[in-house]
Amino acid sequence: MAVRQKSHLFYQSHNRRPVLDQARGIYMWDVDGERYLDGSSGAMVCNIGHSNENVLQAMRRQMEKSTFGYRLHFETEPAELLASKVAALSPEGLDKVFFVSGGSEAVESAIKLARQYALASDQPKRWKVISRYPSYHGCTLGALALTGFTSLSKPFDPMMRVMPKIPAPTAYLDGLDPDIPETGYHYADMLEQCILEEGPESVLAFIVEPVGGASTGALVPPAGYMERIREICTRYNILLIHDEVMTGGGRTGRFFAGEHWGVSPDILVLSKGFSAGYVPLGAMIAHNDIVDAVMAGGGFLHGFTYAGNPLACAAGLAVIEQIEAQDLLKNAETVGAILKHRLTGLMARYPFIGDVRGIGLLLAFELVSDRNTMQPLPKELSAFDRLVDIAYSNGLIIYSRRTRGGLEGDHFLVCPPMITTAEQVEEIMIMLIRSLDTFAAEAQV
Ligand code: PLP
Repeated sequence: MAVRQKSHLFYQSHNRRPVLDQARGIYMWDVDGERYLDGSSGAMVCNIGHSNENVLQAMRRQMEKSTFGYRLHFETEPAELLASKVAALSPEGLDKVFFVSGGSEAVESAIKLARQYALASDQPKRWKVISRYPSYHGCTLGALALTGFTSLSKPFDPMMRVMPKIPAPTAYLDGLDPDIPETGYHYADMLEQCILEEGPESVLAFIVEPVGGASTGALVPPAGYMERIREICTRYNILLIHDEVMTGGGRTGRFFAGEHWGVSPDILVLSKGFSAGYVPLGAMIAHNDIVDAVMAGGGFLHGFTYAGNPLACAAGLAVIEQIEAQDLLKNAETVGAILKHRLTGLMARYPFIGDVRGIGLLLAFELVSDRNTMQPLPKELSAFDRLVDIAYSNGLIIYSRRTRGGLEGDHFLVCPPMITTAEQVEEIMIMLIRSLDTFAAEAQV
């Protein structure tokens, strides 16, 4: 494994990782020629696989024309085409698109648009944005104030106004049946409780990841949850924001995960799979009524220099064209079902796998010391780190986090690109089983 010993870069990662040389399809190679299967699509980003020739060609074509046109000086064809494509894919009424360069920027934009909408609608007292714990909405201070991931936000508490939070619907930890609506109502009603405690007239919005991402490990909401959340937000005149940064772009088998429940938000944000790792790109899509009110009230006081970059938009458009041309939503659904079935089968072999969950190709498994009590593995084992390292040495990349509900727990996301075939699922399983065997022997679990 080609690992650089000295570097001027600093990221939060403690472990040195191999030096990337090239990537094609679902595989990546380091500069020593070592091959890795990208079992997490990076950070659930590279949905259509690496180095797709059609996307590269679209980018080359755009690069030959122009790579930058400042949005206050020029409109560009790629931005207009991508905006109309996104609007066509979005729920009815969400026709206005605001481009950004990543997920945190998209979340910041949504908060500011919601706030300006409240001002334009003569409701200046509405400013609180309720979110959930655990959750992840980004690393900028505004998005971090919504993020329910205390170890990431605590050090910055004095610098931001931390927003109210309700628990994520972790039915699997609370011994509740996720398939009955009573469970969904139980968790959704916590939102109403929180709104009443905070004072309904002070609440601006509720932000939710329709399927939990890295913080909960592919947590699918229980039956009835998303629908009830929508009802509550409507009843209290609170904007519903779907954070589809990880789920948007098809990973769950629908272009937007909210489609699984037939629920439309007022604002939605996406990034990651939207440009599938070809360029930094994100978007906020808002209901016409919101944008019309804000524009009538003097305009949106917001904008990033790189927003709507023509190269990024050309790439984003080509990514969506590939999703459609290759029917990748269908593939995410069918191959996702095969992979989920194979992961669930591992529970018979490894008693320390406590739960397997997810939808489409947003899948995860969680390690526990006791499946009955769902107690996590001892912290000292650092399972979330160790299993990832072992998988690396077997040529497989998976993504891990140690956080869940009120407890700590090690979960692992297995989310290969949406082009993955059934045969490649078997390849993933061979590497994963080899890794879990080594981990079990080493940790004595
Ligand atoms: N929202 C969700 C649900 C995410 O998963 C992420 C990133 O992981 C973000 C927001 C922040 O996106 P970015 O890292 O592109 O700023």
